[in-house]
Order: sequence, then structure tokens, then C-alpha cells
Amino acid sequence: MGKIRKRVLNLILSIFWAVVYFAYLLIFILVVFANFGYNDATIAIFSIMSTIIFVFVVLLFITTITSYQKEKEHLNFNEEIFGERLYFYNLLDFVKDIYEHKHKNKEAYVIAYSPIKSSTSNEVYQSKELKQFYNYLAKYFIEEFTNKKNKKVKYCFDSNMFLIYCQGSKDDVMDIVTKLQNISYSLIKKYDLRLFIQNFFGFCPVSSNNDLYEAIARAKITRRIAEYNFEPVLEFDEKYVLDEKENSIAEALANGLKNNEFLVYYQPKFGLTTKTFVGCEALVRWNSKELGFVSPLGFINYAENKGLIHEIDLFVFEQVCIDLADLKKRGKRLLPVSINFSLYEFYCPTFLDDIKSILTKYDINPMLIEIEITEETQHANSFLVISLLKKLRELGMRVLLDDFGLGFSNFGSMKILPIDTIKIDKSFIDEIAYDYKARQIVKTIIEFGRIMGIQTVAEGVEDAKQVETLKKLKCDIIQGFYFSKPIPKADYDKFLSSNPFEKKEANQ
Ligand code: C2E
Ligand code: CA
Ligand code: CA
Repeated sequence: MGKIRKRVLNLILSIFWAVVYFAYLLIFILVVFANFGYNDATIAIFSIMSTIIFVFVVLLFITTITSYQKEKEHLNFNEEIFGERLYFYNLLDFVKDIYEHKHKNKEAYVIAYSPIKSSTSNEVYQSKELKQFYNYLAKYFIEEFTNKKNKKVKYCFDSNMFLIYCQGSKDDVMDIVTKLQNISYSLIKKYDLRLFIQNFFGFCPVSSNNDLYEAIARAKITRRIAEYNFEPVLEFDEKYVLDEKENSIAEALANGLKNNEFLVYYQPKFGLTTKTFVGCEALVRWNSKELGFVSPLGFINYAENKGLIHEIDLFVFEQVCIDLADLKKRGKRLLPVSINFSLYEFYCPTFLDDIKSILTKYDINPMLIEIEITEETQHANSFLVISLLKKLRELGMRVLLDDFGLGFSNFGSMKILPIDTIKIDKSFIDEIAYDYKARQIVKTIIEFGRIMGIQTVAEGVEDAKQVETLKKLKCDIIQGFYFSKPIPKADYDKFLSSNPFEKKEANQ
């Protein structure tokens, strides 16, 4: 409303100055042409005055027209949402207005409100009913919150949400929420709109001058969490920032699975006794359209929390089988591949059948597959874990215990779990060449493995000193950047057919 007044005022001012200008011009003409007793000085003064007034008028016209133009754009944008041009703030005006009128150190909140679920289909967003509903709601905002008694409330519409700034207490926030809840349902009833609305509100305190944008973002996040948790009104909590991140990663993960954004890389394993490469580890890679390249460390946890890990693990399993089938077809060197399986696979009732059917589909010998599990697996129901591992081994697969040495009760797990191999964690290998204690721990693990009939793999081997030490300690297999980083399948094939390590060892 303030905008209209300003525009009208500008227009009146322009007209006033235009009249003044023409009056001066008239007097000037009279003076010059009617020979009204002029001299050079009066002409000069008249000329200067006329020019100043002229510039004034032009400037006023320009500002009036540009502000009108801007407002038109803004109103056109409104028209798309509200089905009619309404004087409704957008985010920028909203923030500007708050900064102009905000009282420092007074309690204030930002409320994010949307009556429509964020998962709502596009059709609803384009529907006549929703436009009508938003139109009535917007008019309610204008009527209710744009008057003198409500100076402490500002509002705008931004990315499908109404944002309300409320200078006051939490009670004032709840008051606005109740008003909006009541009005939204009464509008639906009054105008008989065929629209299913679900009101969710998220609000966040504004604590200092600088964090208005942050409070807005947080209120929006809280609104989404409110919907997710089915809570009509929710106040912001720090932990929602993480929840929101998880949700957005989970969404990107689900899209990534649909859009084939995942790849499998291979990292070779070198046998110290055979002096040849004896297998490799399959490691998943995600090149996300939305997030760019994401490391497994950045998404495996989220995938586990959101129940998407099974799909990822199965994708890797199937891709490995496809790649093995291809190698077999081309008569290439065929070495076992180890695949990482999450703890959650042990709770998946279809897991065993799923992998059996993939093995059959690609005609893969299960002896070419190793399953990597972590000690974390012991937190699962031991009956489930042990019976599943036994079934996998009966099929002919080998079971490998990853990250050995991290956590606790390691040696116990060697006794309890039906495993063939242990992989000594990189943290021990890092220090093995210069730290006596680390070397002794690794030595003990290797010896204990030998007693138990369990093979040992050292992971994360990066330099020749570590290789030498591990040879002396009689470790069976080593894996790490010293030989190769995880690489795509085509590079892995080339690596196996020509690499410096096997030749060097053969000559020794
Ligand atoms: P992990 O199973 O312990 O895998 C070894 C990780 O160490 C890999 O990281 C590998 O790239 C890295 N690595 C290997 N050698 C070296 C080395 O010499 N130096 C250094 N600095 N790093 C080395 P990546 O690929 O980022 O995988 C991280 C973790 O993500 C894996 O740890 C595994 O727990 C998980 N992961 C990867 N792929 C899968 C998968 O397909 N399914 C499941 N459930 N988890 C996976
Ligand atoms: Ca692993
Ligand atoms: Ca590991």
C-alpha cells in the first residue's frame, strides 16, 4: 500500500514541477518577446532556473516510470501465483522493509507457512483451485496484517511459502498460526474449493540484526521437517540443519539410483606369497548430477539411515557380476572380487535370494566373490549374521572381516564369526614402518590369523617401506595406493595385463 501512495505522490510532484516550469517558461517568453523591461542578468537567472526545474521534472518522471515498471514485474509474478495482481511483497522487499522498521533487541520470529505438502504434484500447483485459494489467502494477509495495529507483522510469498515476520513473543507467533489455520479452512469451506490442504508451520527466532536471511532459511527447513514429522507447528532446532541435509542427500541418492549415476571402481590386491595380483576390491563411486562427485564416506551413512543401502550394495554386486561375465567372455584374466556389504543386508529378508538370482543370471561362479563385512556387523543379531554368513560360504563365497583393529573384541570376532580373511585397518599400516607398537600389533594379528587358519590382508599400503615390513611379518596380501588407487574397469583390465609389480617380483 505504501508503494501506491509513493507513486501517486511522485506523480503529483512531477505535475506540480511541470506546472512551475511552464509558468517560468511563460514569464521568460513574455520578458524576451514582449520586451518587458529585461536585461542580461534577468535572462541568465531565468535560464538557469528553467534548466534546474526542467531537470527536476525529467528525473521525477524517470523514477516514477521505473518504479512503476519494477512494480509491474513484481505484480506479474504475483499474478501467476494469486491469479490476480495484488500488492504483495516478494522476498527482497520483505527483507528491506524489516531492516527499515526493525527494533533492535526486541524478540522476533520468522514463520514459514505452506498449506500444501511439498511433495504435491505440479498439476495441483497449476490448478485453478489452488490459485483461487492463494488469492483469498493473500487478500486475507493484506487485510489482516497491513494496517496500523499490525505494524509488527510483515509478510511475503517466496518459493511456494508464505513467510511472516512477527515482532513479538512466541504467544504472538501462535496467535498468527491459529488465525491462519482457521482462515485457511474457512476459505475452503466458504468458496467450496476442491482442495486438500495440510497446514504446516515452521518458525525460527531472529536473534540479531545480521541473521534475518538465516532465520528465513531455518524457518523454511523447519516447515519441511514439520511436514516430514507430521507436526502442524514446529520451532527450529539446530539438529534440523543436519536432518535437512540428510533428506536432500537421500533425495539425490534416490534420483542417482534411477539415473544410473553410480559406478564401480576396482582396487587390485597383491599376494605376497604368489607375487602376483590375487584379486581386487569393488568400491562404489557416485557422480551425482545435483551434488557433483561424492565420496562413499559422504553418502554410505546417509544411504544406510534412509534405507537405500540395499539398492546400492545390490547395484555394485550386479555390476561386478556383469564385469566378471564380460572378462570371462573375452577370455581375460579372472580374479576374485570383494564387495562391501552393509550391516543392514543382514536384516534384509530377500538379500540371499537377490544375490543368488544375480549369480545365476550372469552365470558367475560364487568362488569369484568375496563379501567384506565390518566388525560393526557384530552389533546385529548374531544368530542372523552367523546363519547368513554360513549360507554365503556354503554357496562358495568367501567372507572377509574389514577394518580389523578398529573398535574392540577383535580377536573374539575371529572366533565367533565364520570368516576366511581379515583386513588389517589402514591406521595400523600407516605407522607400521616406524612405530614399534603398531608393528607388534600387526605381527600379533597376522600370527593369530595363521593359528586360526585365517588369511590376512593389509589395507592402505602406500610406500615401499610398508611393503618390506609386511613381507617380513608374513602378511598374505597387500592392497593400497602403492600398487594402484581404485580405478575404472577398463583401466583395471589394462593394469592386470601390464604392471611393473608382477614383473619386478618375478625377476627377484
Ligand atoms: P573400505 O572398505 O575400508 O575401503 C577402503 C577405502 O580406503 C577406499 O575408500 C579406498 O579408496 C581407500 N584406500 C585404499 N587404499 C588406500 C591407500 O593406500 N591410501 C588411502 N589414503 N586410502 C586408500 P573409498 O572408496 O572412499 O571407500 C570408503 C568406504 O566406503 C569403504 O571403506 C567402505 O566402507 C565404503 N564403501 C565403498 N564402497 C562401498 C559399497 O559398494 N558398499 C558399501 N556398503 N560400502 C562401501
Ligand atoms: Ca572394504
Ligand atoms: Ca577397510
